[in-house]
Amino acid sequence: MPTPISHGIFGAAIGAIAARVVPELPVWQAVATGALSAALPDIDVVFELRHAIVAKSSRYRVFTHRGITHSLFVAPLLVMLMRGFDASGPLSAVVFWGYQSHLLLDLFNGRDGVALLLPFTRRRYRFRWRPIRSIPLSTRVLQPSYLGKVSAGVASEVAWIWSCAAILAALTYVF
Ligand SMILES: [Zn+2]
Repeated sequence: MPTPISHGIFGAAIGAIAARVVPELPVWQAVATGALSAALPDIDVVFELRHAIVAKSSRYRVFTHRGITHSLFVAPLLVMLMRGFDASGPLSAVVFWGYQSHLLLDLFNGRDGVALLLPFTRRRYRFRWRPIRSIPLSTRVLQPSYLGKVSAGVASEVAWIWSCAAILAALTYVF
């Protein structure tokens, strides 16, 4: 999976764009909200830890990594909740697009796919072209082969996610 840092950077770029489009939105607030909402879906790694302890994990589970928190319907629910707390419109838009950006980026990574349409179907989706390499979670951090996989994963995230985020943010400030 792309790291939460990379998801957060992409979400921060979305926040920067929103702050540019809506001048009354404080930049720091928009950037922080974008970063947090983009990293939020991977809170489901908690489910994976639980499965590792009490049961064998399955990609068809609802409460697993890339399961229910990666559904397209979570972001609209979050926005509805925010409106309930009287949050401003532009900030809830940052939450919406930040969250959805996470799902989009995950489609470009990994073999397991993303359960975009939960709870209606457990089917998992992914793009055929997935240039973002996974950084494996492992305890073998000192083995050369593991370090090679980590550096390849980081390089692909910089090449595909960080650069796209930088281009998006820069284009917004040019125009
Ligand atoms: Zn994810």
